[in-house]
Amino acid sequence: MELMFARPEIETPSGLKAASVSTSIYNESKFRTNLPKLYTSPIETIFCPDPNQGLYCQLLFGLIQRDEVVMVGSLFASTVLRGIKFLENHWQELCYDIKTGRLSDWITDSGCRNAASLIMKPNPEQADLIESICNYKSWEGIIRKLWTKARYIGCICTGAMRQYTTELEFYCRGLPLVSAFYACSEAFCGLNLEPLCKPCDVSYTLLPNVAYFEFLPVKNERDESFEMKSNDEDTELVDLVNVKAGQCYELVVTTCAGLYRYKVGDVLMVSGFYNNAPQFQFVERKNVLLSVDQEKTSETDLFKAVTEAKALLDPLGFILTEYTSYVDTSSAPGHYVLFWEIKGKEGKHCKELDPKIMVECCSRMEESLHYTYKIYRKRNIIAALEIRVVKQGSFEALMDYFVSKGTSLSQYKKPSCIKSEEALKILDSRVIGTYFSPKPPL
Ligand code: AMP
Repeated sequence: MELMFARPEIETPSGLKAASVSTSIYNESKFRTNLPKLYTSPIETIFCPDPNQGLYCQLLFGLIQRDEVVMVGSLFASTVLRGIKFLENHWQELCYDIKTGRLSDWITDSGCRNAASLIMKPNPEQADLIESICNYKSWEGIIRKLWTKARYIGCICTGAMRQYTTELEFYCRGLPLVSAFYACSEAFCGLNLEPLCKPCDVSYTLLPNVAYFEFLPVKNERDESFEMKSNDEDTELVDLVNVKAGQCYELVVTTCAGLYRYKVGDVLMVSGFYNNAPQFQFVERKNVLLSVDQEKTSETDLFKAVTEAKALLDPLGFILTEYTSYVDTSSAPGHYVLFWEIKGKEGKHCKELDPKIMVECCSRMEESLHYTYKIYRKRNIIAALEIRVVKQGSFEALMDYFVSKGTSLSQYKKPSCIKSEEALKILDSRVIGTYFSPKPPL
């Protein structure tokens, strides 16, 4: 049971068709031919224009065929979790549909309805079984209980997806999380040759026949001796055969499709060798600050959005003095949190600030973020952006904390994204107001 979602093709200004790489795969005739043999989701549910209807049906078909499911997964870990959360909210309805053999009325997509009519028939026994499993107070191990023959969870759990592994482990209780490959739109880069290892130990072996891979050395925290040239262009590219263990590199690809020395924007670290082939651990996205799902928000994106939003404060006599960000994934879907420290001009106190303005700042930020963010927000893959206003002096306390941990005061740079739990606690304990964007941006 793999949750899959195609996106509509778009046309470029020059009239070429463009689609995401996954959509292109779902469109391939080989995939379509093999789909019924390999997966529980009919093609109509993958291409359903409403992702919620598509997800409902994919879960329904996965439950109906639960005795045949040997793997539960999706491309990325966040999507598997989204599926589980959706199931938490809809299992009674799904059971009712399985019991009666009728698809809920709100599924209006004709493709989904046709697909359902081919497979659904009343099955009260199965519905009762599923109901009794879902009725359990704790949902720990729910994936294992519902799909008893599942042997693993298949989804990418490395990189930005690492944040979801703890929650996923709760729902799958002991089933291995398998990050099988490392791929991007530019090229299918590497395979995980030890699929059963823990997500934190995953390395990918690059496939040298897929693209011409080169590597731009990147300074990593541990490497004191590394000297970065003033400009990327001056740093020499290293060939696949010449990379050094322990060193971080940005991946650069040249492909048959026409990319020439294209920087993928991923930072990888050489973790070892398989025979003579280097293996890499995924370190991070270069320049990506925030990411809930597959969207990538850079420092610059965030800066632009904050600049737009804070313009609302200026005429009212308030100044945004400090800000930082954080991705809150404690609830699903995750959302962006901004910590703002605001100062009132002319003796004004920030408590005098109209809450409506702060809510508007949240909306303005969302409107100013990039296209992918807005699409994901509209589809509820990302929840409402939140601004937490902190009291005066909070960012000083943050600096004190980092300095106490060894940062040089003269070289201190406020983190643009909070990663440490201690730092988060410092800010969270000083929050004096919390505001959310009321609706997705247009
Ligand atoms: P896209 O360009 O939308 O196809 O997304 C590809 C990006 O997703 C890559 O450049 C990585 O940043 C990320 N990604 C893909 N596979 C993995 C993986 N196995 N581990 C970590 N990140 C990954």
